[in-house]
Amino acid sequence: MKKIIIAIDGHSSTGKSTLAKQLAKALDYIYVDSGAMYRAVTLYALEQGFISDKKLDTDALISNIKNVNIEFKKQGNNPTVLFLNNKEVSSKIRGMEVSNLVSKVAALPEVRKCLVREQRRMGEQKGIVMDGRDIGTVVFPNAELKIFMTASAQTRTQRRYDELNAKDETVVFDEVYENITSRDYKDSTRADSPLTQAKDARVLDNTNLTQSQQYTIVMDWIKDLID
Ligand code: C5P
Repeated sequence: MKKIIIAIDGHSSTGKSTLAKQLAKALDYIYVDSGAMYRAVTLYALEQGFISDKKLDTDALISNIKNVNIEFKKQGNNPTVLFLNNKEVSSKIRGMEVSNLVSKVAALPEVRKCLVREQRRMGEQKGIVMDGRDIGTVVFPNAELKIFMTASAQTRTQRRYDELNAKDETVVFDEVYENITSRDYKDSTRADSPLTQAKDARVLDNTNLTQSQQYTIVMDWIKDLID
């Protein structure tokens, strides 16, 4: 069976990583959450004191970017536990503090250059599902399957709010809505690698789809490509 690259892009909190993980498991492919990499760089900037009062010291971050080591390691049943400089940070990067600052960090061309180089290296052998904002447009413009995911902002906020609440994080619905919509705006309007739908991407609006309906649709697309 042919090994392909599956690029999943789309708006914030559309369930890209949930779908990507399901596909990677079913196909025995590598799964890479590129957003987690931008979140890890943001956490690094926070921990180093390069962000204070929501202001980012871009020069300090750029000159230290070579000191950021991001790795996905297997831990128990989870094949994609995120390590930043050998420290496990999977849940830390999901909090509101990182979420509110990540788009600022992700807009820096120097940061993108480093992470894109690493992401391309991960995809050299194909057999990979990667999700993010620029995967089908910049990282893998020749990906065999490009999916652009979207859903109504209200639906996305509710899903994310439920997810954060389940983790006991004290969150306010309006704050989550504001975070999601402002990240979409910043990600879509930045100069370097903005979030846009690749011309050859297939659109998946999951506002009214269950996870299993969505999975069935995408698996049918994949079967046609790998058989
Ligand atoms: O996917 P996730 O919501 O975790 O991504 C967090 C942020 O990282 C996005 O809002 C965006 O600013 C940035 N990002 C990016 N390019 C990617 C993946 C994520 O700019 N390929």
